[in-house]
Amino acid sequence: MNAEIISSGTELLLGKTLNTSAFYLTGQLSGIGVEVHYHTTVGDNKERLLGAVQQALSRSELVFLTGGLGPTADDLTKEVISLVLDLKMNFDQKSMVFIEQFYKDNNDLPPGSEKQAFFPEGSLILPNDWGTAPGAIVKKEGKYCVILPGPPAEMKPMFENYALPEIQKIISGYNRMHVRTLKVFGLGESELELKLSDLMKETTPFLTLLDKHTYMDVRVSVRGQDEKTAAEILDRTEKAIRQRLQNQIFGINEETHSQIVGRLLREKKQTLATAESCSGGLLGGRITSEAGSSDYYLGGVVSYANSAKEGLIGVKNSSLLKYGAVSEEVAREMAEGVRKALGADYGLSTTGIAGPGGGSGDKPVGLVYLALAGPNGTLVEKKLFSGNRESIRNMTVETGLNMLRLDLQNMK
Ligand code: AMP
Ligand code: MG
Repeated sequence: MNAEIISSGTELLLGKTLNTSAFYLTGQLSGIGVEVHYHTTVGDNKERLLGAVQQALSRSELVFLTGGLGPTADDLTKEVISLVLDLKMNFDQKSMVFIEQFYKDNNDLPPGSEKQAFFPEGSLILPNDWGTAPGAIVKKEGKYCVILPGPPAEMKPMFENYALPEIQKIISGYNRMHVRTLKVFGLGESELELKLSDLMKETTPFLTLLDKHTYMDVRVSVRGQDEKTAAEILDRTEKAIRQRLQNQIFGINEETHSQIVGRLLREKKQTLATAESCSGGLLGGRITSEAGSSDYYLGGVVSYANSAKEGLIGVKNSSLLKYGAVSEEVAREMAEGVRKALGADYGLSTTGIAGPGGGSGDKPVGLVYLALAGPNGTLVEKKLFSGNRESIRNMTVETGLNMLRLDLQNMK
């Protein structure tokens, strides 16, 4: 079962609005094994939208449309669908009551609001919990149009809460694509390809490598198989890949490094404190992006200046003078210092040269030291990252999380 997405809205073609909806929907759909074959972006123009819908329905079973559900004359989506599928437009009283209620507190119903309560006949109406325009799923001759509002804040909850369960039902009768993604840290694309070269020659399963900047995704997909066979193939392939990559695999599917580390800290009843120089709080930011991180994260110090390293977490003045702020010794003292200062089980530190300036012959841009002080002593890693300031800082964060993950995974 193939899908495509039509994003409508003149603003998308003026460079005023980034088409985040197509990106979002594609991610959601490939996550449930629906292949998206085309993205079309079209302005609020009747003929062109009509053409786009006709073409989409000629080649895809599932057509997703976003935008054009408002009350004004340039909101054309439902009208165009009714023309292409040759369906009457029916008034839905329930939707009208809902729209009227939405405006009750704001007095006036905008002109043209009734239009939002008209749908192609036979529509399954999708409620809008965050705005006035309901969406719809329209079926004709084995093809489906899924009509969603333009504003992402309305579209996403409507998709997840109301459209997705229906789509699951629709695709359950088909042999969908089955996907499992293994997330790999510390190997580049070519090294990974070398390790998996034999597996990559196969078509069932089909392996793709995706560079996610700080890590790699190995995407394993199986198509044209029933659920049980596909699951067996995915399990077998995952096992084969794990044998080769071992603990370089940090997670699967949608898992993130900070999620995995958080789960391990919680499971092992360990606490963490951070001392950041070159990552300037990014590490703490990533750790606290996980809900419930207060269970294991005690806090962090952004010790950017030498005086902060010395004054807040007890880095020795002599070490700063002798070795410099970007050094193994200072990284070690930062991690041990913050661990002690906050009374945590683990202290994790970063110090490096993120650039673009500040590099020198023996300390080039991209040189980063990370230290992890924990129950089994202190581990220091020296790294030389490439790329711009942003990627150096992101790699620093990811490497810190990885050091912690490996230590926790090895903990008895
Ligand atoms: P509409 O439902 O066509 O009135 O869309 C209203 C607003 O939603 C637009 O002004 C955009 O700001 C936003 N919007 C519409 N389509 C998209 C899209 N594909 N991606 C992101 N934002 C969008
Ligand atoms: Mg619009």
